Amino acid sequence: METIYLPQLLKMPERTMVLQLCHRIAGLDTLTPVRGLFTIRHGGNFIELTLVADTIITLVCDRCLQTFNHRLSVDTSEIIYLREAPKNPSYPPEREITWEDLCETVSPDSEFLIEDWIYQQLCLALPTRNICSNDCSIPSYVPTDSDIDHRWSALAQLKHLLPE
Ligand SMILES: [Zn+2]
Repeated sequence: METIYLPQLLKMPERTMVLQLCHRIAGLDTLTPVRGLFTIRHGGNFIELTLVADTIITLVCDRCLQTFNHRLSVDTSEIIYLREAPKNPSYPPEREITWEDLCETVSPDSEFLIEDWIYQQLCLALPTRNICSNDCSIPSYVPTDSDIDHRWSALAQLKHLLPE
């Protein structure tokens, strides 16, 4: 997917670029391409990003261990401030952390990696707990003889010697 050189955005109508998505996103194994709309707008000292998209992804159920398909939908936006990175950053042992320090920033004349940002948004939308359905159950487990660790056999023999 393309990257966008941020100063170029200033020359676009409304300083905005809209991208119709029907893409595979590197690093994310989805069943269907990611479909939707991505918008990036230059706001002078910030960029505003929005993403409305969905795709289908195969997950493994945390409870029954079966695979299942999950619709991953994203409707999100983010503002990233444009700030020149200091040429020679100095880090005094102690300094006050300002609100700005905690915001994500990019350099005003850098390239913005669209696919990378979309990848992050989709990852953030992944469920924290993968459950295929409300009524699935834990697979029953019956230990077989081969599951017994034979290193403990000496202990098992000792058990026979103990009085009941
Ligand atoms: Zn399940």
